[in-house]
Amino acid sequence: KAVAHWFRWDLRLSDNTGLHRAAESAKSQGLPLICLYLFSHQDFHAHLTSPARIDFCLRTLQILKDDLAKLDIPLWVEEVTDRKRTQNHVLDWCEKWDVGELHANMLYEVDELRRDAKLVREGVKKDIRFTVHHDTCVVEPMVLRSGAGKTYSVFTPFFKSWEPYVYRNKCVQDLFPPPGKNDPKHTVREAFAELFSQTSFPTPNPNKRLEQKEAQRLAKLWPAGEHEARSRLRRFLDERVSKYVDTRNRPDNDSGTSGLSVHLSAGTLSARQAVRACMDHNKGKSLDSGHHGWIRELCFRDFYKQILAANPHVCMNKAYHEEYHKVKWEYNEEHFQRWVQGKTGYPIVDAAMRQLATNKYMHNRCRMIVASFLCKDLLLDWRKGENYFMSELIDGDFASNNAGWQFCSSSGTDAQPYFRIFNPLTQSEKFDPDGEYIRRWVPELSKLKGKEIHDPASRLSPAEFKKLSYPKPIVEHKAARELALERYKSGLGKN
Ligand code: FAD
Repeated sequence: KAVAHWFRWDLRLSDNTGLHRAAESAKSQGLPLICLYLFSHQDFHAHLTSPARIDFCLRTLQILKDDLAKLDIPLWVEEVTDRKRTQNHVLDWCEKWDVGELHANMLYEVDELRRDAKLVREGVKKDIRFTVHHDTCVVEPMVLRSGAGKTYSVFTPFFKSWEPYVYRNKCVQDLFPPPGKNDPKHTVREAFAELFSQTSFPTPNPNKRLEQKEAQRLAKLWPAGEHEARSRLRRFLDERVSKYVDTRNRPDNDSGTSGLSVHLSAGTLSARQAVRACMDHNKGKSLDSGHHGWIRELCFRDFYKQILAANPHVCMNKAYHEEYHKVKWEYNEEHFQRWVQGKTGYPIVDAAMRQLATNKYMHNRCRMIVASFLCKDLLLDWRKGENYFMSELIDGDFASNNAGWQFCSSSGTDAQPYFRIFNPLTQSEKFDPDGEYIRRWVPELSKLKGKEIHDPASRLSPAEFKKLSYPKPIVEHKAARELALERYKSGLGKN
């Protein structure tokens, strides 16, 4: 018999609750530990997982497989063709390798919860015990409750309750070490030779596959695996965290934030590791604003996961506040494509959309600006933007992405009120004051000086503007704003 861990978006050995529990159990029963990863094209398709994220995952799996092999633990990576049969697939695999106990970490999206529940039920019939563990959040969803006993729907009170809870309950005190080596007496290399010998990993479907050159470029930009995650974390803490509060809103500063979202979303770094390292780095003193500010951002991640867990309807294409369904959206494919291509005529929006298309990442401030622009200037359905983000981002995470979009479209928890509408020009002047970010991503404008760069169409003469080969704004912000207010008011019955 064997004990197994099934990796999903928890692609690391250290501080991995499910893996640790599986290893402990294997050890206490004198059994070998083996591991599984299922590669499902249909899941990637259904979840709009981006080619960059799939590539990051495959690069990480290679590292994980090598690290596990050093511990004599095999990692079997297998393709699933029919996602509806995933649970059968897992159980067949368990039966084949005589696994009586399977562990995994919980995913809070509805599809995944249903599938796992099915697997628990089906497993029982075959004498295979499947246990899912809370792992991805620092504080497991639904634990924190407001005075009225409800889950929080506003961030600030959530954070006020989250922070003391983390200290009081020592949530980041005892991080799990990686599993130990499989006992030589199990002769795992022989018993599981087939699992060790797998030579090639699955190839993503053509529409989810990166060209080789693109793959090489992104591999350099976003090195994979947990070792890289930890060294990136260390560099961020040593060099930048103390200035985080001043730099975090500046897209022109490439190192103003940690750039760790790709690791947190793939699970090459746990949120507990991030919080713990940040606290240790502050050397037990009361946290300074940089360290505190960064931990607060990590808390947003927990907050949005608990929103998802408590409100499964947000997984079903629905607004958190369902009345927002009644807001009438435009169907303008040309506008959507201009937004996607970074050709809206609003330099900050275009710079951000081009950053996304090239680096598969976008600065948080810019995510808010372009999301607001899509819903409130172009009046396009926020779900179109949400889906596009997911299909491009290397750090795509359903809970954070959905909540980010619902925040900007005003339909979510703790959202911007619908009448607060970002002005892309003032946002640009405030957060990219010297236009460096725009200059980097919109080369047509690289020679512009001063405030011209934020709003070339109205600050340059028509002749000068024409020379730039840069589009005029596709909508006029003031008029678009008025229209958005109208639409929201009438959708919400506030007229
Ligand atoms: P840092 O500033 O260094 O923050 C550290 C970590 O805290 C991040 O890696 C992230 O895990 C967490 N965090 C920070 N801000 C937020 C936030 N607002 N919401 C949730 N978690 C946060 N984040 C994703 O990880 N995946 C997404 O798909 C995603 N989509 C978004 C879509 C929109 C419209 C918006 C407004 C935000 C979205 N975010 C998403 C949140 C945020 O933009 C990114 O987490 C952040 O830009 C990542 O950069 P960083 O790692 O350098 O962040």
